Amino acid sequence: MRRRVSSAVGVERINWATAMFLVATPIGAVVWGGGRLYEHGLETGPIVFFLVYLVLTGMSITAGYHRLFAHRAYEACAPVRAFYLLLGAAAFQDSALAWSADHRSHHQNIDRDGDPYNVRRGFLWAHMGWLLFTDHLCRRRTLVPDLESDPLVAAQHRAYTPVAIVMCFGVPLSVGWVFGDPWGFLLWGGLIRVVVGHHLTFLVNSLAHTLGRRPYERRFSARDSLITALLTFGEGYHNFHHRFASDYRNGVRRFHWDPTKWLIQALAYVGLASNLRRAPVERIIAARLRADQERLLHRVQACSQEAAVRAQVRVAAVASVVESAVARLGTLEREFGRMRASATGVSREHLRQRRADLRAARREFRETWRHWTRELSRIRDSLDGAVLGT
Ligand SMILES: [Zn+2]
Ligand SMILES: [Zn+2]
Repeated sequence: MRRRVSSAVGVERINWATAMFLVATPIGAVVWGGGRLYEHGLETGPIVFFLVYLVLTGMSITAGYHRLFAHRAYEACAPVRAFYLLLGAAAFQDSALAWSADHRSHHQNIDRDGDPYNVRRGFLWAHMGWLLFTDHLCRRRTLVPDLESDPLVAAQHRAYTPVAIVMCFGVPLSVGWVFGDPWGFLLWGGLIRVVVGHHLTFLVNSLAHTLGRRPYERRFSARDSLITALLTFGEGYHNFHHRFASDYRNGVRRFHWDPTKWLIQALAYVGLASNLRRAPVERIIAARLRADQERLLHRVQACSQEAAVRAQVRVAAVASVVESAVARLGTLEREFGRMRASATGVSREHLRQRRADLRAARREFRETWRHWTRELSRIRDSLDGAVLGT
């Protein structure tokens, strides 16, 4: 699945190599997999390898290709980058350089011409249709100068096809040979795994732009959905991601299902990753407040002017309380982070005091946020009543 990196945008021609690969692999997986299932039933060894290799290659795409190379959301040491590049190649989704060029185009031009997987052209186009054609691609090398100057990324790009074949099919075959079942491992760890991995990644371009809520930005199609997150190693909080693309998290809340975020945190904990970028909490909350207010304004249009003004005044008053609480929380978080990073010259007592202040600020913020959601729901109810009364 190799596509030419070019700046050409024009008549769409079929990309035969990619099209044949994307059509032949699922057919092969069903025919060969069905036959083998009939003959041998479910085979534990190959299926365990399938799951392990699916996770390793899938998360090399999400944590490596996506959050590290395409978005520079954190830094990773050379062995981790090399691991992502090798295992990412096994996912057969092109080189990290080409993948990132497409993805940066997607973020820059979301829902417009220039977005390679523009969901406005249809769910199937965003899912995989775009891969079948060459000339519409908006890859521009000017979008990835940082990656071109990365020797590991550049080497993977140059040697992509042989590396991908070896990692995608050679590794399962070799592991299977060690365990005495090369064809079973090739089927499950190579063919079936690459097909499943493709479609899980493709869901980020299709389902994550179709299903779910838009809590941070209502103007574009990207959506937050737990279902998509469960299927894509945490990439389903896509509305947040498009609004704050350089944040290493997609699921911003601690409990959001985002294994990719947890992997990056674990790598940082053992010193293999650093400079994890996070959007300031004030900006995140400001985006939520604005999106909530825009939704409310939409309802207000159907009300009498008096009801609309009353609602807007109430909303503005509560929003300003939330803004003050989050500003205080943000300041304390940054102060505390700086204090912990410097370590020297800060007494334990002082650190304990600041931690207590931070906990209090978090409590205060949570309380104001609860107040905000309650108030919003009351205002919505009163507006609905006003509309029914008109
Ligand atoms: Zn997207
Ligand atoms: Zn992205």
